[in-house]
Amino acid sequence: MEKSKNVALVAHDNRKKDLVEWVEFNYKTLLGHHLICTGTTGKLVEETITKKLEKGEEIEFPIVKLKSGPLGGDQQLGSMIAEGMVDMLIFFWDPMQPQPHDVDVKALLRITVVYNIPTACNRSTADFMISSHLLKEEYNPRLTDYSRYIQRTLE
Ligand code: PGA
Repeated sequence: MEKSKNVALVAHDNRKKDLVEWVEFNYKTLLGHHLICTGTTGKLVEETITKKLEKGEEIEFPIVKLKSGPLGGDQQLGSMIAEGMVDMLIFFWDPMQPQPHDVDVKALLRITVVYNIPTACNRSTADFMISSHLLKEEYNPRLTDYSRYIQRTLE
């Protein structure tokens, strides 16, 4: 991971308010990184940061907006993680409401573990992650050695 990280942000509908508040508080730090979001979350994050920037402040902050989560956005994100294009994930998922794309949510959370991607599922963890000194440094996550799995035979 470079000093500037690829940070993915996703929030389920009942958790979007939480994420917006978190982004309002942390937007200055986030501006130093590359943001990747699922569709609706991305629009909200963009609006939130735009509002926080002072008038006349010309700061480019291109946000990669994937499809909306239930329409494949979570899967797109999972694919980006497998390709090494995401360094950390802030994912405020809803523990109280079933989601139509529950299997995609599970798959996304699983792939973060496979690739050892720092993942925050609540604000406290997100606070700890964004205030970590590692955020400003190069960091190489130690990957599990899957070579035996890859070389297995089906005999
Ligand atoms: P959304 O998707 O940002 O398009 O609302 C989030 C999700 O449900 O994964």
